[in-house]
Amino acid sequence: MRWTNALIPTLKETPADAEIISHKLLLRAGLIRKLTGGLYIFLPLGLRSLRKIEQIIREEMDRAGALELLMPALQPPEIWQQSGRYETARDVLFKVRDRSKKEWVLGPTHEEVITTLAAGEINSYRQMPKNFYQIQTKFRDEIRPRFGLMRAKEFIMKDAYSFDATDDGAMASYQKMYDAYTRIFARCGLKAFPVEADTGVIGGSHSHEFMVPAETGENEVAFCEACGYAANIEKATSGLPKTAAREIGAAVEKFATPGVVTIEALSKAPYSVPANRQIKTLVYIADSKTVLVLIRGDDQLNETKFMAKTGAVEVRPATPEECLGTLGAKPGSLGAVANVPADVEVFADERLRGANDMTTGANEDGFHLKNVSIERDLKVTQWFDLRTVRAGEPCAKCAKPLKIRRAIEVGHVFKLGTKYSEKLNAVFLDETGKSNPSVMGCYGIGVTRTLQAVIEQSNDKDGIIWPLAVAPYQVIITPLGVVAGSPIMTLAEKLYADLTAQGVEVLLDDRDDRPGVKFKDADLIGIPIRIGLGEKSLANGEVEIKRRGGEMTLAKTGEALANVLELVRAGG
Ligand code: ATP
Ligand code: MG
Repeated sequence: MRWTNALIPTLKETPADAEIISHKLLLRAGLIRKLTGGLYIFLPLGLRSLRKIEQIIREEMDRAGALELLMPALQPPEIWQQSGRYETARDVLFKVRDRSKKEWVLGPTHEEVITTLAAGEINSYRQMPKNFYQIQTKFRDEIRPRFGLMRAKEFIMKDAYSFDATDDGAMASYQKMYDAYTRIFARCGLKAFPVEADTGVIGGSHSHEFMVPAETGENEVAFCEACGYAANIEKATSGLPKTAAREIGAAVEKFATPGVVTIEALSKAPYSVPANRQIKTLVYIADSKTVLVLIRGDDQLNETKFMAKTGAVEVRPATPEECLGTLGAKPGSLGAVANVPADVEVFADERLRGANDMTTGANEDGFHLKNVSIERDLKVTQWFDLRTVRAGEPCAKCAKPLKIRRAIEVGHVFKLGTKYSEKLNAVFLDETGKSNPSVMGCYGIGVTRTLQAVIEQSNDKDGIIWPLAVAPYQVIITPLGVVAGSPIMTLAEKLYADLTAQGVEVLLDDRDDRPGVKFKDADLIGIPIRIGLGEKSLANGEVEIKRRGGEMTLAKTGEALANVLELVRAGG
């Protein structure tokens, strides 16, 4: 491609609304343009990289035995009602109406569609395992679209869905996708690592997210360098000991704490109750039921864990008025010892199990209770691990200190079980002639997010550093001085023709511009190999070969082609 024929609108200035480096570089390197918030146009250069990522994904999915198909983005709401997600996913569902005012859904994902297909096409255990995938546009009404392609309203996903006759079969399908994902991200030049992930209301222990470490990531991951344990903070546990039990002392005693409404205030004089001897009582509305959640004073409730463990789909903290209505006091004085209505369930964090000599609110504004023994004085409906782990806590597996870092989720593999096959009637006859729902898995890669994650991970002050496998062009030829027929241009044209003939993707910067402008642009758009042709080196019969982000070498003009080909074949 000749630069003068291309559309590569590089920008010197950073657009004001781009917050993170990869978003800035996508815009500055002329890869995308914003149509409006959460909607982007892929310019030719950006599209080339996107297609390369798609191709890598396709090759690895095919290699893993998955079958490519293509499903409509527009979906009938009936199947969403049937799966139950018309309600539970309503926050992200885009809905449109046709001329007869009938409603349709723009697919945020395709479990409902693929399961409908399987219900019609897979009737016997003999037809399984089957894994179907597509690379397709998804729509999500995100609360906060941001960071460019990272969280968009419309984005491209590779989604795959496996169908198996048995649970073991489903695990094997899961493992194949897990392995394929590992290869895909490595081939994209991306350092992504799998972490245990929340399985939400579906349950089961098999879900991994593929995470790219980045300060700007929206996820937090807890990990152990010693043994390799890694989990999303929404799932992570640690090996912290339970609260130390003390001798069971006197009966519960009420004491006045005027104006004290925080854990911190109660930990100070004159009360001096350390946070780890306090029980924090939270009132939540979980699927329109009022429940209490007890957590140690120095811990934080993890709402995702809370939802996953209790199976609640929608949770929110109760308002002060709702707290008053339920327990007779406002936040700051709440407790679960007295006045808990019989129909209000009490969930407590495991770390409090067996704790005594604790302090908690008295359900009377301005009063607390001491000498509280969890087992003796409280009625806990169920114990769960509900707290958020913190850096430095001992790893549950090897006791070494856990670390926490931020990361970008680029992929997600998930063992679904029979949730969708039961609801949408995807059943098959097993060997004995009995009808069973198929055991499913689903596997997503954010293709557009992956593209941006590559840039977020691979850049320097001058611009993008593309891994060769996903670079829009592999080589850029930069002649300094564009005069038709000059020795520089003749050689540039010849290298361009020869490399192209060898199947190398080459950009020829044929703009009549200052060297500084051309070098800056080449660095900004991040082409992995640059061939520089200038009068000085050419006088010595040499050209410059520079790897983006690496050293420059000189090559004899006659050897330049072979040298560059070798670099390209070696992967940059
Ligand atoms: P997130 O937690 O980031 O909202 P998710 O868990 O809802 O993502 P999945 O349903 O697992 O996402 O979708 C599979 C993949 O699609 C994700 O791993 C992510 O890479 C990508 N993805 C999800 N939502 C978006 C979005 N709004 N914009 C771009 N990519 C997205
Ligand atoms: Mg996910």
